[in-house]
Amino acid sequence: MTSHLDISHAARDERPTSPPKVNLAGVGLESLRATLEERGVEPRKVNMRARQLWRWVYHYGVRDFSGMTDIGKDQRAAFADWFELERPNITEALVSVDGTRKWLIEYGPNTEAETVFIPDVGRAGALCVSSQVGCTLNCTFCHTGTQKLVRNLTSAEIVRQVMVARDALDEWPTSNENRKLTNIVFMGMGEPLYNLDNVCEAIDTISHEEGISFGRRRITVSTAGVAPLIPELGKRTNAALAISLHATNDDLRNEIVPINKKYDLQTLFEAIKAYPGLGNSKKVTFEYVMLKGVNDSIAEAKDLIRLLKGVPAKINLIPFNPWPGSQYECSDWETIENFAEVLNRAGYSSPIRTPRGRDILAACGQLRSESVKQRASERRKAELAAKAAEDTPAE
Ligand code: SAH
Repeated sequence: MTSHLDISHAARDERPTSPPKVNLAGVGLESLRATLEERGVEPRKVNMRARQLWRWVYHYGVRDFSGMTDIGKDQRAAFADWFELERPNITEALVSVDGTRKWLIEYGPNTEAETVFIPDVGRAGALCVSSQVGCTLNCTFCHTGTQKLVRNLTSAEIVRQVMVARDALDEWPTSNENRKLTNIVFMGMGEPLYNLDNVCEAIDTISHEEGISFGRRRITVSTAGVAPLIPELGKRTNAALAISLHATNDDLRNEIVPINKKYDLQTLFEAIKAYPGLGNSKKVTFEYVMLKGVNDSIAEAKDLIRLLKGVPAKINLIPFNPWPGSQYECSDWETIENFAEVLNRAGYSSPIRTPRGRDILAACGQLRSESVKQRASERRKAELAAKAAEDTPAE
């Protein structure tokens, strides 16, 4: 019987009976090619197959292999044997009264992170993605900061957040008109620059023109200030840069954004100025959370202007979003407007970010999951206890 599979006989004979399926949802192009090679696809066909699969997975968003009509039936069956197109488990999906949507996504036992879709932000709507489960930074006003780092998300796990949103918004196949989701912001849980390789690979995948196709300028990466990696982020991704500034002097910033003790304002600004491609059409966004009586004086607005001299910048004033147990209050509306007015008069566009999705704890800095990193010993203890409970007959 002739076979239509792109697989050499030698590779077929050596193939173990049932190797684990590889999930192609979220996979990067290089790793897709490597996987095809590993599965024994003939080298001369690897590129062609990778391109075909790529379009089905990322342009059409298909969830199974049967619909891949330009691939022969036998080959499709082989793909279905080797691969899957699994979306992650969504443990909670909430919709705010203002249309903001939040998904709590499960990446494994005790490993959950949030993704938020915010309509009417950016060109049409923005997706706020997480790069880590938990965070190491401990910014004092941030809810995620109260959760220890569980782990970095893989690039595939980051990409899957976009796929989940595209599924829910019914935005397959990729179209350039009337998209509801037009911008991606790495402003969810975690510090993207502490997971730089995976963030870069995820950006390569979501920006690829034959797939999900987000222009790199519509992808923004926000950092609390991992200075040495800032220029590298620009070189590797060409993405837009956002900086969580929040204070205009080292004393206050050391206190509320503790990474400042490692990279102070001067070091941070040298790194920002080295970000490639900055100019009028590519400005750095400075995020500034408005904390009542902490960083919201007119003098600080003026300091901010001095600090930003020489950097093509826009400023995003973020009214502080409270969370259970937070020690700050949001500045009064009038104070925020006065602060913005000083910036506007100095020529900065400084929109006040309308709080979105507060009712579902989806606003900036409110994200937190219950996930905790368990030590292996604790995990074993918990497993033993669960097993003992199972073995004990009910009374
Ligand atoms: N670690 C990265 C990515 C997180 S972005 C960074 O710090 O940039 C999340 C943004 O929301 C940051 O600007 C953060 O400082 C801000 N933020 C955190 N807690 C907030 C809160 N309670 N209210 C308003 N903004 C907050």
